[in-house]
Amino acid sequence: MISELNRYQAFRIYQVIFVAIVILTSAALLFSYSSLNEYTVDILNKDRATLYTTDTSGHHVQARRDNHRVILTCNVSKTDQQVLCGFGLLFPLQPEQDQVMSFEHIDHLNINAIATSDAPEFNQRVRLVVKGLFHPDAWPTYQNADIKFHAVRFRATGEKNVPLERFKVETWWEDLYNISYEEASKDFSKIVSLELYVNDIPILHPGNYQIVVSQLDAKGYYLNSKDLNRLLAYIWQITIGVFVVFYLWVKNNLLKKVRRQAHYETGSDVLNYNGFLQEQVKFYGKPATLYLIKILNWQNLTKHFGPDVAYRLVKETNEDVLKYLDHSQCIYARLNNEEMALLTSNRFDEITEQHLAAHFLAGKDIHGIGHLRLEIKIGITEEAHSNIDPSGSINRARHAIESIRGSHQTLQLFNREIHAAAEQSTAIESYIRDSLTDQLFYLVFMPIFDIRKNRITGAEALIRSRHTHLKEISPEIYIPIAEKTGLIREIDFFVIEQCLILLNQTRLPDDFVLSINISAKELLDSSFTELFQSRLTASGIAANRICLEITETFFVDINQQCAETINKLRQMGCKVSLDDFGTGYTSFNQLVKIMVDEIKIDRSFVSRIYESGNLTIIESMITIAHAYGYQVVAEGVEHQEQLEILHQKGCRFYQGYLISKPVSLEEIYYLDQRLCTEVISFAQEEEQRQPYAEAID
Ligand code: C2E
Ligand code: MG
Ligand code: MG
Repeated sequence: MISELNRYQAFRIYQVIFVAIVILTSAALLFSYSSLNEYTVDILNKDRATLYTTDTSGHHVQARRDNHRVILTCNVSKTDQQVLCGFGLLFPLQPEQDQVMSFEHIDHLNINAIATSDAPEFNQRVRLVVKGLFHPDAWPTYQNADIKFHAVRFRATGEKNVPLERFKVETWWEDLYNISYEEASKDFSKIVSLELYVNDIPILHPGNYQIVVSQLDAKGYYLNSKDLNRLLAYIWQITIGVFVVFYLWVKNNLLKKVRRQAHYETGSDVLNYNGFLQEQVKFYGKPATLYLIKILNWQNLTKHFGPDVAYRLVKETNEDVLKYLDHSQCIYARLNNEEMALLTSNRFDEITEQHLAAHFLAGKDIHGIGHLRLEIKIGITEEAHSNIDPSGSINRARHAIESIRGSHQTLQLFNREIHAAAEQSTAIESYIRDSLTDQLFYLVFMPIFDIRKNRITGAEALIRSRHTHLKEISPEIYIPIAEKTGLIREIDFFVIEQCLILLNQTRLPDDFVLSINISAKELLDSSFTELFQSRLTASGIAANRICLEITETFFVDINQQCAETINKLRQMGCKVSLDDFGTGYTSFNQLVKIMVDEIKIDRSFVSRIYESGNLTIIESMITIAHAYGYQVVAEGVEHQEQLEILHQKGCRFYQGYLISKPVSLEEIYYLDQRLCTEVISFAQEEEQRQPYAEAID
């Protein structure tokens, strides 16, 4: 397996090679078309070749050099085969230096020749002959038969560019020596001499002939464009070939990587949700068991130790679990931060299930931090026929987890009762939606009695629904469902708006405080305060007439955001009450950190006030609250005796059926009137009160 780094390096190297090839190609092409690529051999140079005449008849044929020119004159008196009016340039053979004139790399000849004659009808045509060695091994000694004749004809009227490719092997020579087709190819590798004649053999008319050659240059290129093009074609074929192979290789690797990233947790062999969806198809239509493992303390772990540590703990735990599992029988995946899924064809036996749970619960030593543990619950669902979409199974397993009540229970199988509860929860959700859309929610109020003033000084708003089914169900059941499904925000603002309207409509004293239950989830949402304030301002109700009740259990997980929201609400002038106090785990420490105005002793304490020990707990709750300067309200006061005991222990505010069942605000006004006029009374006789109660108020 080639590592990421190697692939990257290979790619970099390829890039460098590619750029180098582009540069070299451009440079070679530029050079090939520039004058630097040309070279010239001056053939007329007297040091290079020996001048001779070609005449064999003894006629007057003369060739002479005149500075850089060669001047040929022929005085032809009779016309026969022997008369060859021409001259030759013989190149020296230097066998010891292994040197010979070669036109192999010559492209063309530049010749400046002018042929003149007083003979009639002279057409100035000349014949330029390049004599090369036919048998290369005949060199340096050779016979006439070893010489190959290449010739070209043209009119000698001045400057001419004669490409070498225009030369032809003379056919008379081929005929003379019976040269085969294969042997008749041009060969300019060993040039013996170069001759220039008046073209006609024999010369047609007697007369004086002259050829003046002022330039005879062989022009060649260091870089032959044909060779260069061929070379570049090869190089580019290879480059493109390598590029295609490289591209396919990188693409293939990338695809593999992307597929892995898409299906696996980063840096781990554990599948992610997509991978789970992909793999679980194998179980389609077959019986299977899904174990859904829910991490309960994920939020706490990330909050206290940071996401990296939490992620590491889960990753290492998952790696342990992976080793423990038989992969041919099951698939294991992390669905999200807080949930893992294990799908097996057969349900494990009880011992294996306990072992599985133990793997999660064992914890891990995290370097620099210590031993950290996961708190988990496992929901199990057995499916007779696995569905292509696992969301149903996952939801069933989630319901099984939600049904676990005791902290010691870790595993729960989804069963008929859980199914019924889950169905009820779904039904309740739809009742809530209907109640919201059809405006079936309304409010009732429980008066709060101030024993010191002997007046109703406040009331708690409680939600009710006129919905056929929902009206039978306690908000204690459906409020948590609204919280889970996100409907709570709409409910909370319906209640807030209703309370503000009713407060404005009802004749109640200016210091009458209305307590509104809000979901603790609102504290996590920074927009809540602004929205609440805008409603409050629009209503014109003073902030100190509103008390927001938050359930105490939530305070276990209080964070900076919640504390800020509470502080902002109090700064606005609102009161904040800690509802159901005693049922949660609020530490003294948290009580100091998060300042509130009031605590409400949960009615479970009040109803068991006669049980041994309970009174002591109530007493200490009151003492603690008063120590922090918080007002104390006792909830669920149903009997006069309960009120009297609580009064003795210093409690000032009371709420419960003894005072009134939930009623309208108007009725609360009349209740207060009756208290004022002493038609009714809840208070003890003045002289029976404990002095302590007086002292703290
Ligand atoms: P909570 O805020 O602790 O409200 C007190 C609950 O105790 C009310 O039940 C009330 O009817 C009941 N209660 C009060 N005194 C007595 C008594 O002497 N005896 C008995 N047996 N019960 C008494 P309810 O109305 O069923 O509300 C239950 C819970 O639902 C509330 O507990 C509160 O947490 C939630 N809730 C109620 N209304 C709202 C609301 O408008 N918004 C939100 N967010 N939650 C609400
Ligand atoms: Mg309440
Ligand atoms: Mg309560």
